Amino acid sequence: MSTSSVTQDEYGAPGLMGLSNYGLSCCVNSLLQSFSATQEFTELLNRWQMSDTDIPEDCNTPLQLQRLLRKMQSDKSHTAHHEDFLRCLDRNHIQLYVQHDVDEVFLSILNLIQQQISDKELAQEIKQLYKITVEQNLQCQTCFYLTKDTSYFLSLPLPISDCSNTVENCIHCFFELQDITGNFCLCERCGERKPTKQGFKLVSLPNVLCLHLKRSGYSLRSGYTKKLNCEVKFPEVLDFQTILRRDQISESTQEVSWKDVESTFGGSRRCAYMLMYQRRQDKMPQSSN
Ligand SMILES: [Zn+2]
Repeated sequence: MSTSSVTQDEYGAPGLMGLSNYGLSCCVNSLLQSFSATQEFTELLNRWQMSDTDIPEDCNTPLQLQRLLRKMQSDKSHTAHHEDFLRCLDRNHIQLYVQHDVDEVFLSILNLIQQQISDKELAQEIKQLYKITVEQNLQCQTCFYLTKDTSYFLSLPLPISDCSNTVENCIHCFFELQDITGNFCLCERCGERKPTKQGFKLVSLPNVLCLHLKRSGYSLRSGYTKKLNCEVKFPEVLDFQTILRRDQISESTQEVSWKDVESTFGGSRRCAYMLMYQRRQDKMPQSSN
């Protein structure tokens, strides 16, 4: 059985390359198609050259992934066999013939790349491609003391409801302050564990934004986890400026107005010591040298 067949575009030229399905590899296959379609990812991975000090080939995830993606992109005439890659994942504790959660596999592959690529600078560049930086806020519900911390996600975990959803709504809800289920956090001001609310503010978005739709929900009726099969509408283009309120975006990335600059640094009490002006390419001619 093949999860995706070789497709042909309107001129009859081969398009995406299909992948064979080994047991329950469809989740890994769909990830491989996404990696293959992400040019920035394949370009970065292709820059890496294995050295003698790297871990053996058969359990080297970035090497096996690099080989497979090259194969997928070079010969599109037939379905690709990728047992070597799946066996490599199996040696790295992502078992063959087991149904996996796509987000777990995605994060595991990115982690394995970080651990197994000897060129750490390149590994960071690959991580940076997906890195969503957020400001995490924890608010004590007794004294309202607020703790701020910067953290990041490689995929944004979006809870969905069991009725109609849109990706925009899910993102908006993710950034709202909400109760931490059944959890108390240590409040510095109260000096003890108190009911706490958690919220996030967006600091920066990556070049490739990965959204994880959390389709596992808790059923009050049965007391078990259930799969949420409801529809989630998603747009062709996501505009975070319209999805998030101004207070859901961290102040460290908000564009400040000229009025803000004047009121902060222009007065006699908070006088500036240095001013830097950047040339606007479109306004003034540059000197010939
Ligand atoms: Zn408190």
